Amino acid sequence: MKWLTQLSGARSLNSANHLPVFFIGHGSPMNALENNAFTAEWKNLFAGLTSVRALVMVSAHWVTNGTQVSAIPQPRTIHDFAGFPRELYRVNYPAPGSAEIAQEVIAVLKPRPATTDYTWGLDHGTWSILVHALPDAKIPVLQLSIDSRATPADFFAIGRSLRPLREQGILLCGSGNIVHNLSRVDWSRLDEPGFAHDWAKEAAEISRNYLLNREWQKLIDFPALPQSMQIAINTAEHYVPLIYMLGAAYEEEELRLFNDVAVGGALTMTSVRFG
Ligand code: ZN
Repeated sequence: MKWLTQLSGARSLNSANHLPVFFIGHGSPMNALENNAFTAEWKNLFAGLTSVRALVMVSAHWVTNGTQVSAIPQPRTIHDFAGFPRELYRVNYPAPGSAEIAQEVIAVLKPRPATTDYTWGLDHGTWSILVHALPDAKIPVLQLSIDSRATPADFFAIGRSLRPLREQGILLCGSGNIVHNLSRVDWSRLDEPGFAHDWAKEAAEISRNYLLNREWQKLIDFPALPQSMQIAINTAEHYVPLIYMLGAAYEEEELRLFNDVAVGGALTMTSVRFG
């Protein structure tokens, strides 16, 4: 099975001065409890990162009217799902927040308005990954909401505004799934890694090729993508964290896909590291 796709021949920037950017396919909240091939990659991804002052996560599970940045000093662990085993509701991810870093984030977004939020906390798009990737929970974690009023170009522009934070020790991360249509998941085939409906296979291939060939504008203008991509993107909240991270990436920097695997026919875990 091809868990890893390495792009060869990409010109590397001098990455000494800035942190990488991640888009992570989070899949089922159960990944928080499991140790599987996906979670192993999450561990690897964060291993060896130094000088990280804070992590700013754009999660599919926090969509608000306008952009909000969590500024709460001790964000709660939100169990924003139903019908899962009791053990999953006991998971606590006690990372601190940071009001100061929230202000730094809001400052780089200007003149676009953004407000601080003290209510949300960390949803499972964030903590299901971080319990594996940063198990010490020492690094402050903030969430930046998806703006329900934004256009595709706005998502990209917000990501571009965030890009200078990479030089300030702030790790930018998007959490969603490129192919995500729960109504079409075949729950009886969840344990069959790689199983994808034909449209999901096609969508995974289209998005993979556009990423690797750096035809990012096509991914940004997602309403114009073919039918298979429309089924895959569906309500779009799991897709747009990728657009934010494309904005935060440099066009020339190294790009690596990992966890490039379909699950249950209608989900892909495909993840991207930039830089
Ligand atoms: Zn999700």
